[in-house]
Amino acid sequence: MTTAARLDNLLDFPESTTPAQRALVPVLLPVALDQTYDYLPPASGAPQPGAFVTVPFGNQTRIGLVWHAPSGAAETQKLDQKKLKAINEVLDVPPLPLISLRFAEWIAKYTLSPLGMVSRMMMSAREVFEPSKPRFGVTIVPNAPLPPRMTPARQRALEIAGDRLIRPKATLARAAECTAGVIDGLVAAGCLVEAAIPEKRCPRPDPAHRVVEFSLEQQQAVDALLPVADAGNFSVTLLDGVTGSGKTEVYFEAVARTLAKGRQVLIMLPEIALTSQFMSRFEGRFGCAPVEWHSAQSGSERARLWKAVASGEARVVVGARSALFLPYPDLGLIVIDEEHDGGFKQDDRVNYQARDMAVVRGRLGDCPVVLASATPSIESHVNARSGKYRHLVLPGRFSGTELPQIEAIDLRTEQPEKGRWLAPRLVNEMAETLARGRQSLLFLNRRGYAPLTLCRACGHRLECPQCTAWLVEHRFKERLNCHHCGFSLPVPDKCPKCGEEGSMTACGPGVERVAEETSERFPEARIALLSSDLIPSLTEMRQIIKQIEAGETDIIIGTQLVAKGHHFPNLDLVGIVDGDLGLAQGADPRAGERTFQLLHQVTGRAGREAVRGRAFIQTHLPEHPVMAAMLSGERDAFIDQEIRVRQAGMLPPYGRLAALIVSAKDKETAQLIARDIAHRAPLAERIQVLGPAEAPIAVIRGRYRWRLLVKAPREIDLQTYLRAWLARLPPIKGDIRLVVDVDPYSFL
Ligand code: ADP
Ligand code: ZN
Repeated sequence: MTTAARLDNLLDFPESTTPAQRALVPVLLPVALDQTYDYLPPASGAPQPGAFVTVPFGNQTRIGLVWHAPSGAAETQKLDQKKLKAINEVLDVPPLPLISLRFAEWIAKYTLSPLGMVSRMMMSAREVFEPSKPRFGVTIVPNAPLPPRMTPARQRALEIAGDRLIRPKATLARAAECTAGVIDGLVAAGCLVEAAIPEKRCPRPDPAHRVVEFSLEQQQAVDALLPVADAGNFSVTLLDGVTGSGKTEVYFEAVARTLAKGRQVLIMLPEIALTSQFMSRFEGRFGCAPVEWHSAQSGSERARLWKAVASGEARVVVGARSALFLPYPDLGLIVIDEEHDGGFKQDDRVNYQARDMAVVRGRLGDCPVVLASATPSIESHVNARSGKYRHLVLPGRFSGTELPQIEAIDLRTEQPEKGRWLAPRLVNEMAETLARGRQSLLFLNRRGYAPLTLCRACGHRLECPQCTAWLVEHRFKERLNCHHCGFSLPVPDKCPKCGEEGSMTACGPGVERVAEETSERFPEARIALLSSDLIPSLTEMRQIIKQIEAGETDIIIGTQLVAKGHHFPNLDLVGIVDGDLGLAQGADPRAGERTFQLLHQVTGRAGREAVRGRAFIQTHLPEHPVMAAMLSGERDAFIDQEIRVRQAGMLPPYGRLAALIVSAKDKETAQLIARDIAHRAPLAERIQVLGPAEAPIAVIRGRYRWRLLVKAPREIDLQTYLRAWLARLPPIKGDIRLVVDVDPYSFL
């Protein structure tokens, strides 16, 4: 049965079930189970599907979600009538819209994840389920007589409270630079009174706040996009425009149109934590900030926003992939910016690709989807070429400046001095840029000081005791860290193997080492180092970005944090310290594509406004197709080539892939189980099962890992095959773990 047909059945349930069955309520628990449990309705009557309830489960009380009955993806556990228990209560929380249930079923089916775990992602704001505690503050009593004893502190507090706002006591005390006692004194004197602080409301973006004047090219894209937004039904548009072409401004018009119709909008960004620029541009266009959704928000804030989305009060949500699972009752547009970004793939519990699931959400909810990128994924290019997606192209920068001029520095002939990482030509360019008062950016996608520490005396390399990985030195923290499990130890001053004093040597560069070299070479330059492990909070990150924008920095050094979406008007020069870094991942069919995207995005930071930028890529492989495409600017030739490779190798999007990853604490067990799983694979003519092979990172957190890769042509229903296979396996017991990753993005 097709999904749509099955869903129709679900929606028809009152006619298709007997009265006795109808009385039972299927409840899904947010745990790793694929089935619902039947409960008797509570005294208050049967709750509607999507309602949140508490139920007795074992000897606990748990929060559950009323599913539709009989549930389609989920099997209902048939219980003995006498053992049936009743729902305790229906929670006073907005129910999930039906579309969310359908979406959860679809994802569970596609990713082979338990429905309970998918639904859990829709219940991520845990504090929604706690009774909301009104917060209290103080406010001025209008026309109250002055307190008998006036002090300067009291005076200040009363002056501030004169605006009649209700503030928490502590906030007022801080503003008036006085103690909480002073505020209490004013309450006792009858000048201030306690009052409940009203819930914060989400401001309403105004579609007509600012009228944008578009360039001719932009206007054409806008003209093509507006009918899509107006139609309001499902379609996918690929907005493919070079960095700085104004993609954001263009899709903002579609956002405005959708808002004007009173529907909600979701804008997904890969790295929401970094997008202060995006927020201020949104505000410039719509007069207020959008609702932000990310993990750095407090629980109570998330609860408030979750409810605001459910009620429709939140009009535009900007968020990372988890924003896809909010309870939108009327989503009218989904935009996925930087659609090619690997950050949209989640590899934790439920393995899903949020961009692809957003397209599914658009189809289920019948609303348009816009994918934007300067370097669209091969998958999206193929869909655009086949006509499945509309393709809108913005070929030039809005500022009119050309894309940066890119040159290779061949490290085989132009080597940096010993112990240094920047070739002389790049250093000269940086010196010149600095002398002109302009900014340079050095990019190296490697955190820390050095990726390897070894003993000069005996050759011993410092490895993580729990992973197949070297320990990475982080010099600012004076520690060695494992980037896979978080293991860490202080940098030893003698070799742990041979005991030689002072023999430990750092090998290779990380961003910290590049920063060290840069400050030695340019002691007068103001340097900003951007690496996720060095920046304590979102606020600080945004602060640094602001300083860069304001020209208070001369040289920016960073990991891929700097690649994404920033618009630095004073940046003229980009240096890629190691252009080959991403190419070595042999088994990963997207290694070339990803390196191209990253290099393109980073070099695209240069020369966005007045002058044409320049970029230098240090590489050992100047002839590699990725480098050749970067240097010649022939993007389309590179895409053609990648598409041919994918087609020939039956790789995505021409073929489907799924990875099975088996891990266990014991090496032998992991291997044996992986082999056994492979043996049990059902025979199917056009499906290949490769492996098991030891994973490239053979051990993580003390667990030995083996991988299987399943390859099938695109028209084959891989999920049905996988499900049949999994059904043949004996129960996975003990400490053995089996992860199924449909459409894998990591091959490590
Ligand atoms: P992209 O997302 O394609 O990299 P942006 O949307 O960030 O490009 O646009 C680049 C810069 O040009 C931004 O500062 C943006 O405000 C500006 N810009 C683009 N289009 C316009 C326009 N029509 N009017 C004014 N400024 C624009
Ligand atoms: Zn480790």
